[in-house]
Amino acid sequence: MLETLHRIIQEVNNANDLVDALNIIVTRLKTQIGADVCSIYLTDSEQREHVLMATDGLRPEAVGKVALPLHRGLVGLVAERAEYINLDDASKHPSYLAISETGETRYHAFLGAPIVHNREVLGILVIRQLISRKYDDEEVTFVLTLAAQLASAINHARASGELGRLHNHGVVTELFLRGNASSSGVAIGTGIVAYQPASLTNVPDRKISDTGTEKQRLKDAIEAVKEELRQFKCKMEGQLPAEDQALFDAWIMMLSEKALLERALFLIEEESNWAPGALRETIEEHARVFDAMDDAYLRERASDVRDLGRRVLLHLQKKSPEPVNYPAETILVGEEVSAMQLAEVPQDRLAGVISARGSSSSHVAILARALGVPAVMGVTDLPVTQLEGRDLIIDGYQGRLYISPQQTVVREYRRLLNEEKALGRELMSLSGLPAETLDHHHVPLYLNTGLLSEMSHFGIKEAEGIGLYRTEFPFMVRDRFPGEDTQYTNYRKVLETFAPRPVVLRTLDIGGDKPLPYFPVSESNPFLGWRGVRISLDHPEIFLTQVRAMLRANSGLGNLHIMMPMVSSVNEVEELTTLIRRAYRELVSEGYAITMPKTGVMIEVPAAVYKSAAIAKRVDFISVGTNDLTQYLLAVDRNNPRVAAIYSDLHPALLQALQQTVQGARQYNCPVGVCGEMAGNPLATPLLLGLGVDSLSMSTGSLLRVKRTIRSLEKAQAENWLENALQMDDAADVSSYMHAVLEQKGLEMLIKPGKR
Ligand code: PEP
Ligand code: MG
Repeated sequence: MLETLHRIIQEVNNANDLVDALNIIVTRLKTQIGADVCSIYLTDSEQREHVLMATDGLRPEAVGKVALPLHRGLVGLVAERAEYINLDDASKHPSYLAISETGETRYHAFLGAPIVHNREVLGILVIRQLISRKYDDEEVTFVLTLAAQLASAINHARASGELGRLHNHGVVTELFLRGNASSSGVAIGTGIVAYQPASLTNVPDRKISDTGTEKQRLKDAIEAVKEELRQFKCKMEGQLPAEDQALFDAWIMMLSEKALLERALFLIEEESNWAPGALRETIEEHARVFDAMDDAYLRERASDVRDLGRRVLLHLQKKSPEPVNYPAETILVGEEVSAMQLAEVPQDRLAGVISARGSSSSHVAILARALGVPAVMGVTDLPVTQLEGRDLIIDGYQGRLYISPQQTVVREYRRLLNEEKALGRELMSLSGLPAETLDHHHVPLYLNTGLLSEMSHFGIKEAEGIGLYRTEFPFMVRDRFPGEDTQYTNYRKVLETFAPRPVVLRTLDIGGDKPLPYFPVSESNPFLGWRGVRISLDHPEIFLTQVRAMLRANSGLGNLHIMMPMVSSVNEVEELTTLIRRAYRELVSEGYAITMPKTGVMIEVPAAVYKSAAIAKRVDFISVGTNDLTQYLLAVDRNNPRVAAIYSDLHPALLQALQQTVQGARQYNCPVGVCGEMAGNPLATPLLLGLGVDSLSMSTGSLLRVKRTIRSLEKAQAENWLENALQMDDAADVSSYMHAVLEQKGLEMLIKPGKR
């Protein structure tokens, strides 16, 4: 049976469209089971009915016409329970509903299986037989497996709009695909598919005699691509902060790598292979090294290498990429959109980005945020080949993509887009005003920067300091550890830009979801492995170099705060502060005029919550990293889309952890800030105020939204809301409660696009 199953699945995958897929299933399934009838009903929740969409055995003229009420009959019961029903005689069941138009009344045996996608019933697969019999286990599992297979085909069709056209009774409104909300905002535009114009994999080996000419050809092609990248970088100047432009330098550096060029030249010389063949082999060898590292970030390096290889090949083939006519509101879509492809779109035409693969930490998502365009990554079932020239809407708040949306949806999003602009103007009027509650309680709002690119002019002007500078990014885009002087220049710029306002530089937090390409760590469970200060303690030379650069950068400024991530024991705090003091003493003895900075610890591991008092005793400040704390407290991988629905920083357990942290810190008058995403979420602002946290650090985009929230509340009220939320059982309850709170304060437009 397994073999038959594979064959049918293959046929379904190769089907031309949904109707074709449904027909394949009903015919093959009927034969395989030896049934008399096999039918598929698709659920139309708008019309509240299940419509017969394919059948082998019932009257063909009933297809598309017969519709069963949503909650009636056996089909309705299968859908309602989302469970299969196996009966030897359907007519004896109390829910049986006789439908004469299909000719189904003659049959006895009944097997109905729900077609479920992401907990939602999309339809029902039904098998009937004249005789009375129960289907055996093997038959049932066969039917259930095919139903599951069908679910993704139906979802695909629903997303591409095909399903809407199939339902001839009216329209299915909510046709959208889901992905990771990777850059917020709304975009309405036209799809342009980003694809790779040259394929390296098909390049054959070819013997040549003039190796000298061939080597020169390759060198010229590589130079041409480097020049292209320099031009992309130039185009982006002024729109991207220097740190993000380092991505382009990293690619140029990859192409300049001696090992890569020498290997390709060697292959031309030794094997008398022509340049494209040598290039293919070299690029594959390089990319495979990254592939084998089995880690999301490094795998992305592999696709960077292949992308660069294809670009060089285009030059070798003397083909210039087809000029693309980018529409005014271009939405770039692709299987795996690369940052290089994004850079090719003229910035004034780029409205948004959609990618089937990748996540919020992909280069392309980082660039999208830096450019302020909405992006949704990791959209499974994205029908890429059908999207060129299609009307698309991106909802970067909720991670949704609408394909050929209906006019009602377009109108709604256009309204939201306009309101978003109006809200932006309204919020701008708060710029420069204090983040103070109605009862005059001031909560400084700081900026999170470094990994992303929130150091816009606005952020620099608006924020009261930097609450979290993630130092990893400059490390990530290079090909080796940056030296003390390189780091010094970088930190000095940040400290100077903000002086005299405080700047919290976090020491290197690599490992987990932030690996370094040149420092591969292979672990089966990286989030519980060698990351953050664990690496710093095992490699004091890396830590000391970084701390020395920070201390030197602080000379004459005095606004530096050093923060240590991923601390799980008091012992680590002591050892790390000893190292910081050592670096300080060494620099003083070398003649540097520096002062000892304030030091702090991130609370992002549950153990640190329980030890917050002991930690507070040893440092000058504490900052809660709610992104990791939520992940560890709820045991939910923060980057795994499958469990994204249960990852919530409004979970009452997290609120309790925060409360305990604040109480611990208060024993030593140690200020507590919050620097995870929660700090920038207006839904959480009243709760954080109620908890009495001393500062909030967030990305630029959240500064005015949170300020607006703070300025609309009283601290005393916030304490009440917190008390109520702490009594609740789960995150969903807290979330609806806080929605109601914000709505009551007239602030609902801060948490959704538009005013609704
Ligand atoms: C956090 O974990 O909340 C945090 C701010 O750090 P990062 O997101 O860089 O891990
Ligand atoms: Mg963290």
